[in-house]
Amino acid sequence: MSASPPTHLIRGTVVTMNAARDIIGDGAVAVSGTQIVGVGSFDSISVAHPDSTVHGSSSDLVLPGYINGHQHLTGDRLIQSSVPDDLAPGESIFTWVVPIHAEHTGDDDQLSATLTLAEALTNGVTSTFEAGTVAHPERVAAAAQEIGARLTVGTWGWDVDEGPYAGPVDEVIDRQISALEINAGPLVTSWVSLVGHDLMSDELVVAASDLARSRGVGLTFHLSPHTGDPASYLERTGKRPLVHLESLGALGPHVAIAHGVHLDEAELDVLSKTRAAVVSCPWAYLRLGQGITSEFRHLDIWKRRGRLALGCDAENAGDMVDGIRTAALFAGLAKDTSADPTVFGAHDALELLTIKGAEALGVADTVGSIEVGKQADLVVHDRTQIEWIPNSPDPVLQLVWGSDGRSVRDVWVAGAQVVRAGAITALDVQALNDEAVAAGQALRTRAGIPAPSRWPVR
Ligand SMILES: [Zn+2]
Repeated sequence: MSASPPTHLIRGTVVTMNAARDIIGDGAVAVSGTQIVGVGSFDSISVAHPDSTVHGSSSDLVLPGYINGHQHLTGDRLIQSSVPDDLAPGESIFTWVVPIHAEHTGDDDQLSATLTLAEALTNGVTSTFEAGTVAHPERVAAAAQEIGARLTVGTWGWDVDEGPYAGPVDEVIDRQISALEINAGPLVTSWVSLVGHDLMSDELVVAASDLARSRGVGLTFHLSPHTGDPASYLERTGKRPLVHLESLGALGPHVAIAHGVHLDEAELDVLSKTRAAVVSCPWAYLRLGQGITSEFRHLDIWKRRGRLALGCDAENAGDMVDGIRTAALFAGLAKDTSADPTVFGAHDALELLTIKGAEALGVADTVGSIEVGKQADLVVHDRTQIEWIPNSPDPVLQLVWGSDGRSVRDVWVAGAQVVRAGAITALDVQALNDEAVAAGQALRTRAGIPAPSRWPVR
């Protein structure tokens, strides 16, 4: 008979995100193996689990791990915050994006994913859904496995126009099937991912959707982030994008659409009917000037009780991988674009970052809240840091408006501590610095991309 795993108690004010949205003042979460085995007051949980190791103190704030529904793990990180923020729409594609992706090696993919996932974990993001721009998804999966992050990985697929990893439908689907067969431990799963926009034929999106349905996995693709996107679909198909995709039978609850910034009423109806989810990446829209402040359809989706998650997108489109910062921006956009502060707030935004994001991405049975039986993905904010002093009586209000990922001190994924005292436990991220600098420079040289600074660097 094997001994049961030791129990750990994570102490603090516990924001459970359960159905009643209970917050437990001096609470604790009991963790055994990969799972949560108890949630309650510190006193009661201590009595129930007398031989446990206690982590943290009553001043800490404990939350379920944050969920990032759209994140590029390759292509941007090694040249992060380098693509100028004053390029015309689409200008970066052939100057930056395509050459970089064409030159990204397997080592670059793994290093890039390691850095981004490490940043995500240190900011409390425990579940990442990869946007699918990878040449070597198995190397991205290996990065997640090594660092202990929960990841859904995808691989690049498109069949319209030229570019790296574009190909005929059968070839693209074969690549997707191999990505679904990646085995990198219990934290890594796969989904079907197409680039999106105008880069998928009807035949491809139908085949990809059928593949996802038959394997019981998700399907993701980009859709209508730019103001001009619906017009190009109309020209090609005679219909708005979501109306067209619905007519093909490609949409359903298994679909997570990245962006969907520019939607009309008929497309909102399609989302309500098909229950396809949308992932909103508000920092990307601001960084790229995509018109979110004049057309905030994501709030309409939320008002219709649609399925919605938050994402941080890419390190040249939103740049920081910080869920709390993203949630705060979403809440601010909701209030300001409505000119109505009552419409949506910090608590709604935290739901999108946790339980509602998990529901939108089909993983709410295992993560997204602190409840017995769920995976022990936990984030601890240190409320002795200066921005938390003095504590507000409403910890959620203070979390979203008064803080960000900086106060994340400890993080657990599936019961394993992956961040301790603000540092990744599985590797020395600082030691990766030289490797990241060298790889970034080599990549720039091979891809022949510029290295501009608007102001002279002397
Ligand atoms: Zn994206």
